[in-house]
Amino acid sequence: MCRHAAWLGPARALTTLISDPEHGLLRQSYAPRLQKYGTVNADGFGLGWYDGSRPVRYRRTVPIWTDANMPGLAAAARSTCLIAAVRSATVGMPIEETATAPFADGPWLLSHNGRVRREAVRPLAADAESGCDSAWLAAAAFTRLRDGLSLADVLPAVVRTAAEGDPEARLNLLVTGGSHLAAVAWGDTLFTHLEEGVLVASEPLDDRPGWRAVPDRSLLLASPDGVSVTPID
Ligand code: GLN
Repeated sequence: MCRHAAWLGPARALTTLISDPEHGLLRQSYAPRLQKYGTVNADGFGLGWYDGSRPVRYRRTVPIWTDANMPGLAAAARSTCLIAAVRSATVGMPIEETATAPFADGPWLLSHNGRVRREAVRPLAADAESGCDSAWLAAAAFTRLRDGLSLADVLPAVVRTAAEGDPEARLNLLVTGGSHLAAVAWGDTLFTHLEEGVLVASEPLDDRPGWRAVPDRSLLLASPDGVSVTPID
């Protein structure tokens, strides 16, 4: 199970998710505290941020702690919307940049924490950039977002359909379009921290008070107007 995190609020550097907090994604890549599946997240990492309304990504297949350019890049990449993930590849999944979150389409950036039988998600999209289960799940969501449906409609529908095809699936998703953020808790932990904006993460990035667990099988929506959590049934 990978670990992912995002920020929506006043512009901050990507180090907000990675190395500023004591248990940011850098530390979580080798010493996650709440990870139930897998022990380290060393099969690659991805960073995403926005240059105006245009998403920018940086994806690698090496452990995040081995990339000597990452600290400088993460300090320089400032945005009101940030997303990052460290990967522990599911057995049988390819290790390649195209299998590494965040996946992208138009303004959208998406990360998946979990696993799903590919047979359950392949029928939901015409194609995916990688054979990785997460890439197919991302393609399923992107197809529907491209049709103009909202995140609030698309994510529960995709998760329900994938879970029907694979009741064991773990489907924690984190998706942003730059001005808003959505996350699904389905089979793994998800936390939020409200400050001058909102932090969303698989597990708390530090030990400050105020981290709140999002109940399993629910959808979190965050915009500059606030945060809501609703059950997915
Ligand atoms: N199944 C995805 C992959 O193989 C995500 C893995 C995870 O969450 N650990 O990359």
